[in-house]
Order: sequence, then structure tokens, then C-alpha cells
Amino acid sequence: MDKLYENILSEVKKLPIIDTHEHLDMEEHRVKKGVDLFSLFMTHYASSDLISAGMPVEDMDKLRGNQLDIDEKWRIFKPYWERAKNTSYCQCLLIAVKDIYGVDDINDFTYQELNARIVSMNKPGLYRRILKDMSHIELSICDVYWPDPFLLDEEFYRPAVRFDEFIFVESSDDISALEKRHGRYINSLNQWVRLLEDTMKEYKEKYHICAVKSGLAYSRILRYERTDYSEAEAIFNQLLSARGVGSEFCIQTKPLQDYMMHKVVQIASEMDLPIQIHTGLQEGNGNVITNSNPSHLINLFMDYPQARFDIFHAGYPYGGELSAIVKNFPNVYADMCWAHIISREYAVRILEEWLDTIPANKIFGFGGDYIFVEGVYGHQVIARENIARALANKVEKGYIKEGQCLDIAQRLLYQNPKDFFKL
Ligand SMILES: [Zn+2]
Repeated sequence: MDKLYENILSEVKKLPIIDTHEHLDMEEHRVKKGVDLFSLFMTHYASSDLISAGMPVEDMDKLRGNQLDIDEKWRIFKPYWERAKNTSYCQCLLIAVKDIYGVDDINDFTYQELNARIVSMNKPGLYRRILKDMSHIELSICDVYWPDPFLLDEEFYRPAVRFDEFIFVESSDDISALEKRHGRYINSLNQWVRLLEDTMKEYKEKYHICAVKSGLAYSRILRYERTDYSEAEAIFNQLLSARGVGSEFCIQTKPLQDYMMHKVVQIASEMDLPIQIHTGLQEGNGNVITNSNPSHLINLFMDYPQARFDIFHAGYPYGGELSAIVKNFPNVYADMCWAHIISREYAVRILEEWLDTIPANKIFGFGGDYIFVEGVYGHQVIARENIARALANKVEKGYIKEGQCLDIAQRLLYQNPKDFFKL
């Protein structure tokens, strides 16, 4: 078995990747801002596990800030790192530290040297080395609120833009914010929808966005009811009439949000832009997992057969439901972005199940989903291992032949996203 796994892995390691989802801080910003070991690695993910392990949020803020020196930060960090370092989030950092900075562990004897290496290598060229030379990533789709000029480096990135601010409207301040950004006065729901349409069109033509992204599972349930224009308009008009009162005037706006989500799907579909939707676990601590079950989205999949949906994070922990959905609907695809480091065990298990259930052209194998580039490296190492492990298990069980493995892996990591996003 080990030999079989090693054989498959050695081939999978050579494959180029199209990375379906990142939040990368652009190299130009990062180099200018400066980093240390803790402000960098506690940006997200492992930080959530340290808080889950008991670290007070104020201590996490100290690690992210620049008031303390590296020794003071280590003393805060160490007890919680000891408790949480078993998780895939933390293991991902250890892989990055070893391969990128040549440091074997994060402990009393290594943290100062590791920090010194991170600081000294925070220079232009870092992203080329990590994303291209070490990770073999051909392109990364980056999730943004509006196109950043640095994202337009088409050798590295394609933008996927969020239009959630057009959907998640709770006060007149939310309307004013977009009026200001786009330099347009809004006087009716119709004008609001037109602004959405014009903005999506402009971003597609000018910035070559390759997808629309929605992250609203962080803020509300994913069930978007079909709503009449008149019902949504009445709520929108109430908000407009409260201009000046600002966010103190808050009403229940779910029907308006639902209406606007349907509009986003309709318009994206007309523009042939796929829609990437966050489902499953929310990053951070203390959110409502049941809000994010991909099954809430079924009416959208049914109502818009021409729209193409990329469903994120292997639906963790609802991967079984996602499997049934993707099997059912030709317009819905399953994406493993982030999933390999939420849990390596889950990722292997669910991929084995999916390869029994879903046609192999409908699974996307990797999205790093990191703000800092070291995380992307560690994540792709783990993703390649997980994919090789799932394939080896299936060969061992006699479900597929060893000769099929490379073709499946190549589809998952490269060909499927390349075709779907028309890259
Ligand atoms: Zn993300």
C-alpha cells in the first residue's frame, strides 16, 4: 500500500495546479507593510484553533499587532500552540516552515531563527518563488471586493469579485456606501439592480473577472426565497426614506436580500460568469454552521439551470449532501478549496465518496484560501498527499485501476477548473 501511495504521489507532485480560490495579500502590499512570525501566521486559520484551545482574543490581537517583541509574543503563543498543533491548520504551517525556511519545528529553540528568516526573505520575488517555483501553481483565482490593480498581473491571478454588498443591505448606510464608490445616486430598487448589472459588466470587460463570489454564509442562512419585486421594493423604499438616520434604522431585510441574490445569479448567468458560493465551515470562531448547508441552495440550482455554480469547501461537514446535489444537477460543481486543511481525514474520505458518486469532471481539487503565501504552499503539499491517498485507497479496494489515477488527479488539479472558468 505504501509503495502504491508513494508511486501515485510522486506523479501527482509533478502536476501543475489551477488554484480556484485565494485571498492573497498582494506581494507589493506585504513587502511594504513588513511581517513577523506571529503577525504573519496568526492572520487566520491556525489562530482560530488557538482561540478554540482557550487563548483570549486580546492575546491574539497582541500577536497580530506590533507592540510586543518576538520573545514576548512567543511566551503568549507557546501554551496554546502546544495544545492545538495537532490540527491540520497547524500542521500546514509546519510544512511551510520546513520547506520554505528550512526550519524543522516551531519551538523554544527555533522561533527566533525562523522569525529572522521570515523577515529577511520578505522581499520582491517571494511570491514567484513560492507560488510558481515551489507550488507549481499556474493561476490563482483571487476573491476580492473590487479589482485591485496588483491583481491584474495575469501571469499569477484572475479576480473573482463579490457582489454581496448589493445583496446584504440592512440600512441606508449600506446603499450610500455603494453610491459613493460608484458615483451614482440611487433612487429606486430598479436603479440599484441596474448599478449591479453595470458594475458586473464593467468588471468583466475591464478587469477580466472570471467568477462572481458570495460569502454570505458568514452572515445569514443560504436559503434565498423567490421574492416579488413589489415586496423587495417596499423594503428598499423604507431604507431610502431613512437616509440620514443611518444604521440606527434597521429593519428585517431578508426578502430584499433574497430578491437581490436571485438578480446576482440571473445577471452572472447572462454574462456567462460562474458563481462561487461559500458553504460549510466559517473561518473564525462562534458562527452558525447550519446556516451554511449547501442544501439551502437547491432552489437556486433548480431555478437557474443556465447558471454555473462552484460550491466551496467540500461543504464541510455537509459533503455527503453536496455529493447528492452535484450528482443531480449538471450546473453544480464541487470544490475542495480550503477542505484539505480543515481536515485531512475528511478530505480523503469525502474525495473517495465523491469519486464513487460524481463524474470526475465536476470536482475541483485545490484552492489554497490563504491570505499569506506560505499557507498556500503548505496547503498544496497536503492537497497533493490527500488526493494521492484517496486514489491509492480506491486502487487498493479494486474500484479503479492504478493507470487511471494520474488522469483523475490531472482533471481535479488542473483541467476541470481550466475548462469551467474558461482560463
Ligand atoms: Zn475564502
